[in-house]
Amino acid sequence: MKLIRFGSAGSEKPGICAPGGKWLDCSGFGEDWNEAFFGSDGINRLLQWLDKNQARCATVDPSTRLGSPVARPSKIICVGLNYSLHAKESGMEVPEQPVIFMKATSSLVGPFDDIIIPKNSVKTDWEVELAIVIGKRALYVSEQDAMNYVAGYVLHNDVSERDFQLNHGGQWVKGKSCDTFAPLGPWLVTQDEIADPHRLRLWLKVNGERMQDSNTSDLVHGIPKLVSYISQYMSLLPGDVISTGTPAGVGMGLKPPRYLQPGDVVELGIDGLGTSKQNVKAFS
Ligand code: ZN
Repeated sequence: MKLIRFGSAGSEKPGICAPGGKWLDCSGFGEDWNEAFFGSDGINRLLQWLDKNQARCATVDPSTRLGSPVARPSKIICVGLNYSLHAKESGMEVPEQPVIFMKATSSLVGPFDDIIIPKNSVKTDWEVELAIVIGKRALYVSEQDAMNYVAGYVLHNDVSERDFQLNHGGQWVKGKSCDTFAPLGPWLVTQDEIADPHRLRLWLKVNGERMQDSNTSDLVHGIPKLVSYISQYMSLLPGDVISTGTPAGVGMGLKPPRYLQPGDVVELGIDGLGTSKQNVKAFS
């Protein structure tokens, strides 16, 4: 199943993308795709509800804005340097233990929303990533058991301001958390629809030029390891997003480096998870 949320920012409604691509309004189910939904076996309950009610769901006009397919979660946790070629282009070693950092949940936007270059930014960069959404509370879970805690997968652009991230002191969070820095979607694809999440091509283009083109088979730390590892340090709550890291081809790694400018268009995609597209604008 593919979950969507549609409508204007801040008042999105829940829906699904049905087989064949038609968007259906699931407002009648009476819940948003949020922590309470995922934490109460919502995906199975929704499937049962659709069995009886799908024919009565209104079709959503495909020109409608899509929001993040997950309502604002308790956390967005990102994994750094999780593809070896990206670590190399960043001038860093692949770390022995996963690097994790937080991204403010207020950075979340829809998959076709604008990326706003923040005030005083000179190095706004792109990062296509496979993100996972947690399906139930996870604390101290084993790698063997970890996939039972995954609700599904979603396409994420981990937009990053490299000067804020690397030159403003302290943690990476400053360069990762600006408004609009987390375009998520188009869909949350449930786990059963993706046969092998570690064999998905992922790519990103800027103004039609292919910048990133890799495969999740190159992940240093796979999904079971990441879920288990992060759950040793904190409770992962239903709906939480873990972004698994970006492959090589970011603007910072180019010679000379290249960063996003107003007017640029970023497009990205992952096999089975759809594509997204953002226009880049200046803060005003
Ligand atoms: Zn990233």
